[in-house]
Amino acid sequence: MTDKTYDVVVIGEGITGLTAACRAARQGRSVASCEAELFGGLVININELEGSPATEHASGVELASTLMQENAEAGVQSINERVVGIAADGALLQVRTEGTTHLARAVIVASGARLKRLGIPGEAEFDHRGVSQCADCDGPMFKDEEVVVVGGGDSALQEALVLARFCRKVHLLHRGPGFRARRHFVDRVNASDRIAVQWNTVAEEITGGQCVEKVRVRNAADGTRSEIPCAGFFAYIGLAPNSEYLPAAIARDANGAVLTDGSLKTALDGVWAAGAVRAGYSGLLTDAVKEAETAVASALTRLK
Ligand SMILES: Cc1cc2nc3c(=O)[nH]c(=O)nc-3n(C[C@H](O)[C@H](O)[C@H](O)COP(=O)(O)OP(=O)(O)OC[C@H]3O[C@@H](n4cnc5c(N)ncnc54)[C@H](O)[C@@H]3O)c2cc1C
Repeated sequence: MTDKTYDVVVIGEGITGLTAACRAARQGRSVASCEAELFGGLVININELEGSPATEHASGVELASTLMQENAEAGVQSINERVVGIAADGALLQVRTEGTTHLARAVIVASGARLKRLGIPGEAEFDHRGVSQCADCDGPMFKDEEVVVVGGGDSALQEALVLARFCRKVHLLHRGPGFRARRHFVDRVNASDRIAVQWNTVAEEITGGQCVEKVRVRNAADGTRSEIPCAGFFAYIGLAPNSEYLPAAIARDANGAVLTDGSLKTALDGVWAAGAVRAGYSGLLTDAVKEAETAVASALTRLK
């Protein structure tokens, strides 16, 4: 157990957690942020952010690195440890990591979310052999090839547009009859001569030899089956909240997203939640920043 008690411990160093930690430290509070992997979270592999909260930063790496630097200057203690549990300890909270236990007067849960997988045959088998979820990192590997993208929201269309810069053809499969994505993404997809949209289409299996060679699909409207020859497969079908490590006292919805009140307080006293881990989060970085600010303001009121 650490002998230090922090005013605020923030879980996660994505854009929400980094913003929350910085705001609390700038109020003169002792703050630690715990990160299981690399700081930055979901944006780290996005080269061109839409609606970045800091307009001068085009890429996710630049945005996250700038926030990390600001946090170091503000005195935030960055701890590279995965949080495995939270428990009440009198008036304090224990934040348990794989290595130690940190004590906090308030905790802000900003552990975000991860991209869901389809769970179809071949998806795990061909991971890193054609199956990817990072268009910016892996797109150049598919130069002049054909790839399949699955999904109908902002992420799927945004990443299909990234892949269209490299690939000869992007087959964009959507299980429904229309996109959920924002208008400007839809307009750009419709204008691309390299993106072919297939409505009412479900990916059923990924096949190949050493690498991905085909995706078997079913038309949900008429039940017919066909194959798409391709070298790459990218699924953007939504996010699963990183909330499994939280205690039952922190209420969640059916998807695992943390439930909060309007001040972003959770059902466990002393614990707030913000960003992609939270039920009702819009998915926009500008709102991640606003939620971080709301949670900090509410948490610091309790510390007065
Ligand atoms: C492909 C894609 C493209 C996108 N493009 C845009 C865009 O252009 N513009 C835009 O506004 N939004 C975009 N988004 C959405 C945006 O990325 C997210 O809304 C935002 O990054 C969420 O930030 P977050 O900090 O809440 O969560 P995350 O980014 O998920 O960060 C959570 C952090 O917590 C860490 N963590 C998880 N569990 C633990 C644990 N137990 N202990 C310690 N640390 C933990 C994770 O490792 C991670 O670093 C995009 C999303 C995707 C998937």
